[in-house]
Amino acid sequence: MSEITLGILGGGQLGSMLSVAANKLKIKTIIYTDDKEAPAQKFCDEFICGDYNDKIKIYEFAKKVDFITFEFENIPFQTLNELNKLKTVSPKPSINRLIQHRLAEKDFVNKLNIRTTRYVHIQNKEDLLTLEDFLPGILKTTTMGYDGKGQYPINSIEEIDSLNIDFKKDYILEKLVKLKKEISVIITRFRNNKYEIYEPIENKHKDQILRHSKIPAEISKKLFNQSKEWAILIAEELKYIGTLCIEFFIDRNENLYVNEIAPRVHNSGHLTINAYNVSQFENHVRAVCALKQITLKKISNAEMFNLIGNQITRYRENPKLNHNQYLFDYLKKEIKDKRKMGHLTILK
Ligand code: ADP
Ligand code: MG
Repeated sequence: MSEITLGILGGGQLGSMLSVAANKLKIKTIIYTDDKEAPAQKFCDEFICGDYNDKIKIYEFAKKVDFITFEFENIPFQTLNELNKLKTVSPKPSINRLIQHRLAEKDFVNKLNIRTTRYVHIQNKEDLLTLEDFLPGILKTTTMGYDGKGQYPINSIEEIDSLNIDFKKDYILEKLVKLKKEISVIITRFRNNKYEIYEPIENKHKDQILRHSKIPAEISKKLFNQSKEWAILIAEELKYIGTLCIEFFIDRNENLYVNEIAPRVHNSGHLTINAYNVSQFENHVRAVCALKQITLKKISNAEMFNLIGNQITRYRENPKLNHNQYLFDYLKKEIKDKRKMGHLTILK
């Protein structure tokens, strides 16, 4: 083992895959999460379960590690900030705070002259009633949303009452884009103008949950280049360290929009584990632990299927795979509807 220990906040499957990548580099991982059932405990070297606001436990965690990162966005800013005074947190806490908030995130992207969907801040029901222009649209909580949680598709003003929206929360209303395709670009930034970037990945969602990703994305050369340029611009502007994912929409007129930024490794990048010489997870570990940057090379085209809910069952019962197939079971105890249980990558 090397002398390096990486602390990871969050214990989901992204934490598991970061731990596996770190171990390959002989780096020890300690996971800190508030979920005692967290799947990453089966993959990390040490597991600490505690509240994200538990100052004593958080301090003990910090003492044990050399570098700190996070695998999900919704960690209290205060906690990240306090940790950053003790050990380097990458990406830096201020980036997480910006991106955690859908409104701040979209304002930031627009300031770079990068197109986003049309959006408006909604603080109460009255705000909604005059916004016919933004319909059909999607109402999204400004914070704490993922996998479509906290989202309400709205087609008409008349529908609003039947949706039982909790107006104690803050929202944005986004105009629905007539989607032709969704893509994502994953980039790992090491320092000023030093980065590795993966080619755009084409993604299919159902009920706002990612189902399928593939490379190459079937898009024009123009969009291929533009999405990468925008990803580089965003990563540079944030002075980001680590792996970052930009989700894009492409509409029927071939316009590109940034949908959202994920300040972490991303589900659409799981295929990089098998399709590239260095995965998004390994690149993240390399960047946040200040290790050597390696030039990225694609080994194969690939596609990835998320295994949601009981889609995992047949693979657990019969794990036999073809030579070009790779199964990842997240080893979550309980199978739940809409829960990401594993994924299957197929090299092409
Ligand atoms: P999450 O944080 O849950 O990933 P997103 O904002 O990325 O939320 O929305 C999830 C999915 O819902 C998107 O990938 C897309 O398929 C669909 N979606 C969200 N917003 C819009 C929009 N304005 N127009 C069209 N589709 C949308
Ligand atoms: Mg998303």
